[in-house]
Amino acid sequence: MFIANWKMNGSQSMLVRWLEGVNKTLDKSLQTKCILCPPVCFLSEASKVIKKEKLSISLGAQNIDPSNISPLTGGIDGAMLKELGAEYVVIGHSERRKVFKEENQLLSEKLESASKEDLRVIFCIGESLKEKEEGKTISVLKKQLEILNDAELNNFTVAYEPVWAIGSGETAKLDDIEDIHRQIVDEVRSFKKESFLGVFYGGSVDSSSSRQILSLKGVQGLLIGGASLECEEFCNIVLTNNQN
Ligand code: PEP
Repeated sequence: MFIANWKMNGSQSMLVRWLEGVNKTLDKSLQTKCILCPPVCFLSEASKVIKKEKLSISLGAQNIDPSNISPLTGGIDGAMLKELGAEYVVIGHSERRKVFKEENQLLSEKLESASKEDLRVIFCIGESLKEKEEGKTISVLKKQLEILNDAELNNFTVAYEPVWAIGSGETAKLDDIEDIHRQIVDEVRSFKKESFLGVFYGGSVDSSSSRQILSLKGVQGLLIGGASLECEEFCNIVLTNNQN
């Protein structure tokens, strides 16, 4: 699977051009492997274009609010995201963990909000550079994963995104990616969650690095930020990984 995380980028016209480009470049079977997560304000337009042009790409939201906090000015819950056409939701992205201090308690409530509406969760985890240098990567990841144990989730994936690799142009070493993915899989499997679909990698992935990363054992998909904004680059990533 290939997740395009646009973060706080794009416009309605860019969205339409991007979707038209995807429709021209990727056949339907490849489109089914793609999930576009635009800013929430463009979800409705994206949904309209997808229906009108009969695209097979899915939509995801980049964030969700807990549905148990009411009233919550500015809040958007799972039911609202679903109405806008989202099937997936990203929870726990490191930018939100850092800027909005999103921690396990709040993230658990977000998981609950998603689960109430059967949204498929893409749960992001990752260690900072300092944590990596101190040899704390696995303990940090296990702490972040802990809340999945109690969550009732529809099909979900974990996205491993080293914080220091996001938007930096650096990717983790291939051996490290493989080893860390294996440990994440083992940890989540120990929770006995049948709805766990696997681990994705994210962090400065582009068309030159994607093939090697996706060929690693335990890497089920890619979460692509900056490189997903250009339709051609995003499609190249998908096409490159479809060759034998
Ligand atoms: C991301 O947005 O999660 C991400 C991995 O971004 P980038 O590919 O730009 O590092």
